[in-house]
Amino acid sequence: MQNKLKELKTRLMEIDDLRGAAALLYWDQATYMPPEGAEARGRQMATLERLAHEKFTDAAVGTLLDQLRPHEEGLPYEHPEAALIRVTRRQYEREVKVPPAFTAELSRHLTSSYEAWVKARPANDFSLVQPCLEKTLELSRRLADFFPGYEHIADPLITYEDEGMKASILRTLFAELREQLVPIVEAITSQPPADDAFLRQHYPEARQLAVGREVVERMGYEFSRGRRDKTPHPFMTKFSLGDVRITTRVEENYLAESLYGAMHEAGHALYEQGINRDFEATPLADGCSAGAHEAQSRLWENRVGRSREFCRFLFPRLQEVFPDQLSAVSPDAFYRAINKVERSLVRTAADEVTYNLHVMIRFELELKLLEGSLSIADLPQAWREMYRSDLGIAPQDDRDGVLQDMHWYGATIGGKFQGYTLGNIMGAQFYRSALEAHPDIPEQISRGRFDTLLGWLRENIYQYGNVFTPDELIERVTGGPLNIDPYIAYIAGKYGELYSL
Ligand SMILES: [Zn+2]
Repeated sequence: MQNKLKELKTRLMEIDDLRGAAALLYWDQATYMPPEGAEARGRQMATLERLAHEKFTDAAVGTLLDQLRPHEEGLPYEHPEAALIRVTRRQYEREVKVPPAFTAELSRHLTSSYEAWVKARPANDFSLVQPCLEKTLELSRRLADFFPGYEHIADPLITYEDEGMKASILRTLFAELREQLVPIVEAITSQPPADDAFLRQHYPEARQLAVGREVVERMGYEFSRGRRDKTPHPFMTKFSLGDVRITTRVEENYLAESLYGAMHEAGHALYEQGINRDFEATPLADGCSAGAHEAQSRLWENRVGRSREFCRFLFPRLQEVFPDQLSAVSPDAFYRAINKVERSLVRTAADEVTYNLHVMIRFELELKLLEGSLSIADLPQAWREMYRSDLGIAPQDDRDGVLQDMHWYGATIGGKFQGYTLGNIMGAQFYRSALEAHPDIPEQISRGRFDTLLGWLRENIYQYGNVFTPDELIERVTGGPLNIDPYIAYIAGKYGELYSL
């Protein structure tokens, strides 16, 4: 059995090597590659991904997994070897259903679709992406159809990102959340808005980058196992557990962009850097779902970064670094500015209270497109109508409307947005459990100390990587299932106090 396990691990390591190389090529494309390298780069990445897919779906892997079943069944559920066999089998059974020719067609199409979006967004011209998007929708539906027996055509695409989730569960969950959030948004936006003009002065890039580095290092991000570079669209990527990178976008006319973006991406990176290093180069060395990952990034960005305690620690330092801009600003004014709530058009810049409404609009549009009840041609108008009815504001152009997020242009349509809201909900549940175990965490944060919180997250969540499903993880960490109450209690408490609701 140990020989079979060793053979499986050797195969998985080669697959991981190919995927790590593809990830490095993608990172380079997003950071330093000259523009004319794009075409060859798309081909190079597609070749590596195809080779990885072929190796992973090799019948020999299936045979090994069958032979290892008795070994798995003889071990406790959470034993690393049992988990490795179980998780690999789950991924294998999914990937063998998708023909390699389809994977290659999808990959080629998405490269050209992404290129079309890169041109269409600044040009504010939806017609440049419309034919691509029609093809993407067709390919997304074909991908779903490789997994027959679904309740909703989006379900296979949702499950791929967030195991255990499906359209019907999410529609109910989101309806409950919306019912609770909308009255809070209405009560806040009927008041005069918080003043955040001082965040929109000139903040030199070098000093913004320096202070961002200080913050993520304090959070526990290890530069000996990572690095940070600039990109137009921030992300986190990993080539191995010893090389987990983040990227950041700096706006010299807006202080919050790079600071909170860095905390967000570092939150993703802390999860990956915290995975048990024995899992290196296996399917266990990964976060357990899109939602579980966003739970970490949004916990660090919002629960920590936008808290009063964190502001107490950070603001005096910011005043030292930016005396001309901030010496006349009070800590309370800073706290209010970074928690400004408004009806806005752009998801990534949205506040905590309205953020989920942005996500729900995209989720509902994805379902309608896949169902066939909405056409791509009608998508920009449907976007505007949903923004008007749900957020009371509609974009003047498609750049701030249907063209704003890269998701539908660089990937399939379906399953790409629910993870953000699931992350908010899960993050609130996790943070409540952390506070129950260590009530002094907020006091530590006010002194710029994050080791107790990070230690708790590593011990209870990060180290396990992909060992558990999201449902199992929530149950283990919080003692119950996914539940919106801690999130609603947090939003109602924090913003009730801020806006005297
Ligand atoms: Zn994220």
